Amino acid sequence: MKTPLVEMDGDEMTRILWQMIKDELLSPFIDLKTEYYDLGLKHRDETDDQVTVDAAEATKKYGVAVKCATITPNQARVEEYQLKKMYKSPNGTIRAMLDGTVFRAPIVVKGISPCVKNWKKPITLARHAYGDVYKNVELYADGPGDAYLVFEGADGTVRKEKIQHFEAPGVLQGMHNLDASIESFAKSCFTFALDTRQDLWFGCKDTISKTYDARFREIFRQVYEKEYKERFEKEHLTYFYTLIDDIVARVMKSEGGFIWACKNYDGDVMSDMVSSAFGSLAMMTSVLVSPHGYYEYEAAHGTVQRHYYRHLKGEETSTNSVATIFAWTGALRKRGELDGLKDLVEFASRLEQAVIDTIESGKMTKDLALITDMENPTVCNSRDFILAIRERLEK
Ligand code: NAP
Ligand code: MG
Repeated sequence: MKTPLVEMDGDEMTRILWQMIKDELLSPFIDLKTEYYDLGLKHRDETDDQVTVDAAEATKKYGVAVKCATITPNQARVEEYQLKKMYKSPNGTIRAMLDGTVFRAPIVVKGISPCVKNWKKPITLARHAYGDVYKNVELYADGPGDAYLVFEGADGTVRKEKIQHFEAPGVLQGMHNLDASIESFAKSCFTFALDTRQDLWFGCKDTISKTYDARFREIFRQVYEKEYKERFEKEHLTYFYTLIDDIVARVMKSEGGFIWACKNYDGDVMSDMVSSAFGSLAMMTSVLVSPHGYYEYEAAHGTVQRHYYRHLKGEETSTNSVATIFAWTGALRKRGELDGLKDLVEFASRLEQAVIDTIESGKMTKDLALITDMENPTVCNSRDFILAIRERLEK
C-alpha cells in the first residue's frame, strides 16, 4: 500500500470482529497501512468526540476510510459508559462533514435467495440524506382558521400562498430542501453509477409536486446533461427518470443490477424493503460517497449488542462478519484503484470470493443458516467462520 486507509474502530461485537478480520484476513496477506482512529465510545468520551471530527478530517485528506459500527448514545448508554454527555451519532457527524449519499447493496450468494424470484443481481439503493420530512416543522391546527406558506425574501419581498382554510381541527407540515444538496446528491449518484458501471434510475412525484419534486427531476437532468451524459454514453450506461410509482413497479419486475436513487423518505422505506427481501442486513455493503470524491465504507448493521453481552459472559457467539469484511475489501479496492495498485485490487476481490465460496460450501453463521435453502448447513461460531474464510483464501 502507498496511502493509508483511514481506519475507524468501533464498539461491542463488531469491534471484536474488526480485530479478528485484521489479524486473520488482512495482515497475513497484505502490507496493511492505516491511520487509526478509535471511535469506540470510551475514547469518543475521553476526547469529547474530537476523535470523530479528526477521523472525518483525515478522510478528506486521504480520500478513503473504513468504519466499524459504533454506538449512538442514548440515555441507557450515558449511564452504562458514564459519559460526560449524550454525543451525537458518529455517522451523522461524519456524513455532515463529508456531505454525501449512502449507497447500499446486498451481497448475493447462492443458497440465500431473494424473496422476489426474478431478482438475479443486486439492487443498489442510493438515499438522499438531507431535508424533506426529516427536517420538517409541524403544527396541529386545533380549530377553524387559515394556513399560509410564507417566504420572506432577504430583499424584503414577501410571497404568500394559502395552504388551506380550516373549518375544523387538522394537521400541517412545512418542509424544505436545498438546490446545493440535491445537486451533490445527483453528482454522487452519477459518479457511483460510472464507478460501478451500472444504470441509474431515479423517481419522484413531479406530476403532483410540480415545484418541489420537479426541482429534483430538473437538477438531476441538468447535472446529467452538463457533466455526465457523454461518459454514460461512452460506457453504454443509461440514466432513467420516471415517476416513483412507475419505478416501484419496474423494480419488482426487474432482474436487478442497477442503482435506484431515492429521495430521503423513499430511501428510508425502500432500503428496508430491498434489504429484507434480499435476506439480511449483515449481507449488505454500505458506502458513503461524497461529491468531492471521498469514500467511507462501513457495515449497514449496528454493533450487535446482544451478541456482545453473550461474548462478555464467555458464551459462544455466531455473529456474521460479512458486511464488515466487505467494508474492508471495498476500501482496499478503492485505495488500490486510486493508487494504481493492481495487486491490492485483486486481493480485495479474492477475499470477497473466499467469503462467498465459504458460504456457498455450506459454512455460515447462524443468521444465514436460519434463512438458507441449503440442506444441512454447518453453523460456525464468529471465529470459526473467519478461520474458514482464511483457509479458503490461503488455498
Ligand atoms: P444491531 O447491531 O443491528 O443488531 C440487531 C439484531 O440484528 C441483533 O441482535 C441480531 O439479531 C441481528 N444482527 C445484526 N447484525 C448482525 C450480524 N452481523 N450477525 C448476526 N446477527 C446480526 O442493532 P442493535 O443491537 O439494536 O444496536 C446496537 C448498537 O448499534 C446501538 O447502540 C446503535 O446505536 C448502534 N448502531 C450503529 C450503526 C452504525 O454504526 N452504522 C447502525 C445501527 C445501529 P439476534 O440477536 O436475533 O441474533
Ligand atoms: Mg429506516
